Amino acid sequence: MEERIYLDHAAAMPVNPGVARFCRQFPGGFAGNPSTIYQEGLAAQATVAAAREKVAALIGARDPASIVFTSGATESNNIAIRGTALRNRKMGERVVTSAIEHISVLNPAKDLQKNGFTFTEVPVDHFGVIDLDTLTAVVTPETVVTSVHYANNEIGTIEPIREVAEIVHDRGGFLHVDATDAAGRIPIDVERDGIDLATLSSNQLGGPDGVGALYIRPGVRVQPVIVGGGQERGLRPGTENVFGIACMGEAARIAKEEMPGESERLRGIRDRLIAGITGIEEAYLTGHPAERLPHHASFRFSRIEGESIQLAMNMLGIAIATGSACTSRTLEASHVLLGIGLAHDEAHGSMVATLGRENSPDEVPRVVSAARETVKRLRAITPL
Ligand code: PMP
Repeated sequence: MEERIYLDHAAAMPVNPGVARFCRQFPGGFAGNPSTIYQEGLAAQATVAAAREKVAALIGARDPASIVFTSGATESNNIAIRGTALRNRKMGERVVTSAIEHISVLNPAKDLQKNGFTFTEVPVDHFGVIDLDTLTAVVTPETVVTSVHYANNEIGTIEPIREVAEIVHDRGGFLHVDATDAAGRIPIDVERDGIDLATLSSNQLGGPDGVGALYIRPGVRVQPVIVGGGQERGLRPGTENVFGIACMGEAARIAKEEMPGESERLRGIRDRLIAGITGIEEAYLTGHPAERLPHHASFRFSRIEGESIQLAMNMLGIAIATGSACTSRTLEASHVLLGIGLAHDEAHGSMVATLGRENSPDEVPRVVSAARETVKRLRAITPL
């Protein structure tokens, strides 16, 4: 039997072998609780501190104390949006995001409406790039938080974050950037980019699941979303996941080291995949052709439906997505694809490949011919 090809790294990534080697040094986890002051506790504290430095280094954060460890990107997004909006509501009661953010950004922003906030979504163009003119018009001095992702997980488009930061800072508000899919893939520098808060996920860096981080620029005040003990500056109360944090730190270190070479290698595979798939009749690239993540290739096929593509590709030995894993169990069209101006039926025919370290250029011909065969077969039976 042919080996399976895994092309859904945005949904879940195998742990990087270097990270796995590092984690295996601690087969029993860590004995100490970082809140205690005997030797074991101090060792756990030092482990967390080392991880904080490695994560800070990945995104150019000067002060490691600006990193708060969380349980993942969803929690980081919630703390960033709710916590910053509620703590600084004296500035005003407005929150702005792009229309194609992840639901873990959109839902906390929508939820703030129950607290009296106004929430505005800024449209994107047909490549998924945020409309800076609209952004300029809707961000006011009363806008506490503006949240724009570094790059989109369904269409790979990279946003013009530095320009967004200028607009936001001109009005005196804070910029939160969900960097889940971009970190470790393209260079991010919170100083250069003008980012006030940034979300990171361990898994997307090649670390274990269930751990993430939030960068908070020194001086930005954020209120806890859950309350308890004083861990992580009170912003993420509860005993730290020391093992997960240690492994995430190492993942950040390795990602920084490997990024230049690995991103270049994946860009080569991505471009071959794009050339092959867009050669299929009525197949189109979604997202930006140039300003896109190096590991990301996304498409739509007319007259067929994404879930059928996914199931048929699965039978041919290929794990590939039709959108965000977080919304894949709903039958609704993706808000991202509708956001870039696709009609409902167009948005349903989507296929998303996200590459990782086990992928090789040799896999491209098999993926392209599987997609070609799938599309032909499904079109032959479609009622559309
Ligand atoms: N933000 C973005 C941009 C994502 O792609 C994801 C995961 N697909 C998340 C947030 C949520 O990550 P998690 O499920 O790890 O909390």
